[in-house]
Amino acid sequence: MLFSGLFDQNSRNTASHRFSLIAGPCSIESYELFLKIAQEVKKHGATALRGGIFKMRTHSAAFQGLGGEAIEIVKQVKREVNLPFVSEITDPRQITLLAEVVDVFQVGARNMHNYELLKELGKLQKPVLLKRGLAAYLDEFLAASEYLLKAGNTQVILCERGIRSFERSTRNTLDLSAVPYLQQRTHLPVIVDPSHGTGVRSLIPAMCWAAAAAGADGLMVEVHPNPSEALSDGDQALTIEDFKEMVPKLSRVLHAVNGPALREPHYSPKETSQWMN
Ligand code: PEP
Ligand code: MN
Repeated sequence: MLFSGLFDQNSRNTASHRFSLIAGPCSIESYELFLKIAQEVKKHGATALRGGIFKMRTHSAAFQGLGGEAIEIVKQVKREVNLPFVSEITDPRQITLLAEVVDVFQVGARNMHNYELLKELGKLQKPVLLKRGLAAYLDEFLAASEYLLKAGNTQVILCERGIRSFERSTRNTLDLSAVPYLQQRTHLPVIVDPSHGTGVRSLIPAMCWAAAAAGADGLMVEVHPNPSEALSDGDQALTIEDFKEMVPKLSRVLHAVNGPALREPHYSPKETSQWMN
C-alpha cells in the first residue's frame, strides 16, 4: 500500500518508521516544469510529489490551476518519475477525474469545514490528507477527521499548515505544538507544511527541521526552480538548491530523534532517498 509506513503507528519513532517528504510546486504549470521539479525533488529525497490542479485562490482573477488539462501531464510525469502524487480536491464532482492520477486526495485548509466533501471522500479507498483550517481549533480539526473515519476511510493524514494570528511577519503562524497534541489524541499520522505555515522561503528549512524534531510523520513543501515566476505562492517555494540543502540536515534531525537504530540497515547519511519512502 502506498504510504503504508505512515499508517503503521506501532512503528512511530522507531527505525522502521517511514518519514514522508512530499515536495513539488504549488500549482502544476506545464509538463516541462513539473517533470523537472519532480525529477529534482526525487533525486534529493522526496518520497511523494505534490502539485495543484484545482486551486482555491482568494482572488477570482488569480491562476486557478490547469484543471483537467493537468491530468495527462501528471500521468506522464508519474510514469517517468514513479512517485505517488498528492493533489487538492475542491469539489466532490472532481473525484472521478482526479482519481485517475491522485494517490492521496488533499483537502485544503479552506475546505476543512466542508463536511459534505469529507463524507464523499470518506467513501473512497484512497488516503486523504486533511489540512487544518485557517482558524480551526485542534479539536475542530480532529472532529473534521471523524467525518472521513466515520464514512469508512481510515487512511487519513493530518496536516498542520499554520493558523491566522495577529502576527503579520509571516503569512500564518505555524503551530508546531499541534504535532504532539494531535499525536497524543489520535493514531493518525501528522505532517507539517512549513510553506503555507510561514509563507516565507527563508524560514522554511528551519521549520522543516523543527517539525521533524517535534516528531512529525512527514513534511509537505513547495518547490519551484524559479519562484519569482511561479503562477502561485512563489514567495514560499524553496528553490531546488534550497531543497537539496535542506534534506541532509533533515536526515540528521530524524536520526537524532529516532535514535541510533536508524543507522542499520535503513539509514545512510548519503542515501536519504533509500529510507525516506
Ligand atoms: C496547498 O497546499 O496548495 C494549499 C492551498 O494549502 P492550504 O489549503 O493549506 O492553504
Ligand atoms: Mn500553495
